[in-house]
Amino acid sequence: MLIDTHTHVQVHQFAGDRQQVIAAAFADGIDRLIVPGVDVESSRDALALATAYPGRIFAGVGTHPHDATTLTDEALAAERELAREPGVVAIGEIGLDYYRNLSPREVQQRALIQQFALARELDLPVILHNRDSHDDMIAHLRAYGQGLLGVFHCFIGTKEMARDALDLGFYLSFAGPVTFPRNTELAEVAAWAPADRILVETDSPYLAPPPFRGKRNEPRHVRLVAQRIAELRGLALEDFAAITTRNAEALFRLPPASGTGTSDTSDTSDITTPSPSEKGNPSDASL
Ligand SMILES: [Zn+2]
Ligand SMILES: [Zn+2]
Repeated sequence: MLIDTHTHVQVHQFAGDRQQVIAAAFADGIDRLIVPGVDVESSRDALALATAYPGRIFAGVGTHPHDATTLTDEALAAERELAREPGVVAIGEIGLDYYRNLSPREVQQRALIQQFALARELDLPVILHNRDSHDDMIAHLRAYGQGLLGVFHCFIGTKEMARDALDLGFYLSFAGPVTFPRNTELAEVAAWAPADRILVETDSPYLAPPPFRGKRNEPRHVRLVAQRIAELRGLALEDFAAITTRNAEALFRLPPASGTGTSDTSDTSDITTPSPSEKGNPSDASL
């Protein structure tokens, strides 16, 4: 059994078949999902899924660096209310993204600092998005993140960058890029990282691993990420899955697994039929 610790299954790309996608993941042994928000609305949608699937889906509440300009005082207050609800296990995703710079850097930094404070206030871990912004992220964690725990989601950095995160007590979560053949350095990091600090995720609908590259990613594909890292570490998939599940339960303080198999009874008979929206979806862009 695996936990997909980062799937945006609440977003519009899943509007047509969300229940089937979730049921397919459960049926495939992906027994729990963590669904981060990227703004207030998507955080509310994540919480709605956590409420609909108690014990199986958990929500993150946060504003993504791309959307940092939307984090007004009102939005921050709305996040505080949402994050107090049962089923919310993290503040996220939050962070810095100097690759796309969709919000000005100072605005991203301000949103990050405000949401660090919210995480501390509510005693929740943080889910960090960090792209081309490593030095500033580490500096912000040192200056404003004392006492916080969390995860560098979709980690794609070097071993030195991994060490910075680990030294702060943070976890590393690996996604589809660790399965891409050209990413040999990232594969080395995944093989080397301490066993008690590794998580796996899909970041779906983005970053589908082979043989699904170019298609919409789904939480069930976290198995391919875990399989790849298990091979790199010389472990059986079941053993590596048990390790990463334990880590996710510890970081996000998940209740003991309630599910044995799938408790969802929705019709999954058409899950193998690609929906029209699956064609031409973004593949290698990430959130
Ligand atoms: Zn994401
Ligand atoms: Zn992200």
